[in-house]
Amino acid sequence: MKPVLIVGAGPVGMTLASELTRYGVPVRIVDRAAHRTDKSRALVLWSRTLELLDRGGEGSAPFLEAGFRAVAVNIVAGKSRVGRIDLDGVPTPYPFALMLPQSETERLLEERLRGQGVAVERRVELASFRAGDDGVDAVLRDAEGREEGLSVDWMAGCDGAHSAVRHGLDAPFAGETMDADWMLADVHVTGYPCPDSEVSVYWHRDGILVIFPITPGRYRVVADLPPAGTEHPPTPTLEQVQAILDDRGPGGMKAADPVWLSGFRINGRKVASYRHGRVFLAGDAAHVHSPAGGQGMNTGMQDAFNLAWKLAMVARGTCAEHLLGSYSPERSAVGDEVLKAADRLTAVGTLRNPVAQTLRNLAGRVVLGLGPVRHAIAEAATEVTVGYPHGPLNGPAGAGAGPKPGERVAPITGRAPVGSGTAPLFALFADATPAADLVPKYPALLDPDVRPPLAEGGLWLVRPDGYLACSAREPGVIAAYLNGLARPAAS
Ligand SMILES: Cc1cc2nc3c(=O)[nH]c(=O)nc-3n(C[C@H](O)[C@H](O)[C@H](O)COP(=O)(O)OP(=O)(O)OC[C@H]3O[C@@H](n4cnc5c(N)ncnc54)[C@H](O)[C@@H]3O)c2cc1C
Repeated sequence: MKPVLIVGAGPVGMTLASELTRYGVPVRIVDRAAHRTDKSRALVLWSRTLELLDRGGEGSAPFLEAGFRAVAVNIVAGKSRVGRIDLDGVPTPYPFALMLPQSETERLLEERLRGQGVAVERRVELASFRAGDDGVDAVLRDAEGREEGLSVDWMAGCDGAHSAVRHGLDAPFAGETMDADWMLADVHVTGYPCPDSEVSVYWHRDGILVIFPITPGRYRVVADLPPAGTEHPPTPTLEQVQAILDDRGPGGMKAADPVWLSGFRINGRKVASYRHGRVFLAGDAAHVHSPAGGQGMNTGMQDAFNLAWKLAMVARGTCAEHLLGSYSPERSAVGDEVLKAADRLTAVGTLRNPVAQTLRNLAGRVVLGLGPVRHAIAEAATEVTVGYPHGPLNGPAGAGAGPKPGERVAPITGRAPVGSGTAPLFALFADATPAADLVPKYPALLDPDVRPPLAEGGLWLVRPDGYLACSAREPGVIAAYLNGLARPAAS
């Protein structure tokens, strides 16, 4: 089997490399940078990403050990609280936001990869490529200018917002840049008025201020500023950070010892298709959006989880190539939703009109006073509601109960998560008798570990990434679904 070429060793490229390797597909992963990022950048690992990370290496444990758990988000306007979103009721083994600087997430992903025997090839860039019907001819160039030609069956562009792969495909990155400057400060703060396990959002008449705990005493401070009119967003000074804390916060906070100060502008952009024949796009190469909601890196890593099992099944010869046709429709629909939600959150937080601000604060109190609304927000933020309700892989929903095709099936405490192990396998949730008929017939597709049924009298087939493929009352329906996936000769 030829290696899959992964361009870019950020969190998305390393996730893809690790998943493919776990499933026995060789990879080459190259990155033009000499080192991993040392910046905190994306700060949150959400519940759904942790569930998916739990299937490889030492599972989610190293991330949990390194991170810090935030359990609630407070929204404050003026001196009073508009609402509070608690995360501890979310139905997941990880009912919290795991605060972990991206530099640490990348360190742990690289350690996982190293443990799998894969080294990131650093200071090596994709110089050019030509994609054909049967494969991709790529030219890699190292820092000394030496070039290497490489022919692969598949290539994944995980090379970030300025993706060379996306440019090479001539794929438009449609969207816009918001007309505002933002400041980001990774600083030590004293006098934070909430427990360190809580995030605070301050809606102020001059703009928004958000404070995320990173580790006790160290915080990420984010705020919008009027446009500076400069070519690049200006880098804030510690004094400016302090002034924003004084103006927009509740008072009494003192910032010191900055670890990282940065200015940024918000781009909302996305490609129309994540697959171009033999070439895939994932992560920031395919979508960028407002950091509101902290979904960017998580969405990218989940692109990689979605792609990995499908590419592994096709590369291993277990499934027909049409399986890969589902990657773009599934993940592009998720990307559209993430972009819309991040835009909405940003717009609500940055209202300038005083009347609109008053209405927002009143409506916020009413809406966030409703328990079901708060639960829905918590479940959306933690990404446990991400799914593929209109995905092309969805089969029949014949069981009549339990999750619907495309919906996430929550991990069962004490059982190996679906999709863990060394082969990408579907899992059956069913009683012993119908399962005994099916499992031996599909050794390359079905996990021999059959899980308990999700309701009485039905069979549920769960994909290697933990989403329901189909459900039925008859084993024949499940068999027909699996036959449709398999290579024609093996069906
Ligand atoms: C200032 C800042 C703050 C952020 N804050 C948040 C946040 O709070 N929450 C959140 O979710 N997200 C945040 N993000 C976004 C988050 O960092 C990205 O979503 C995430 O890094 C995307 O990961 P990726 O692997 O797709 O791309 P990247 O992390 O950008 O990695 C791409 C890699 O590709 C390499 N590369 C590029 N071109 C080539 C080439 N031609 N050949 C070889 N290698 C190449 C690069 O060196 C890089 O290592 C922030 C980003 C920035 C810049």
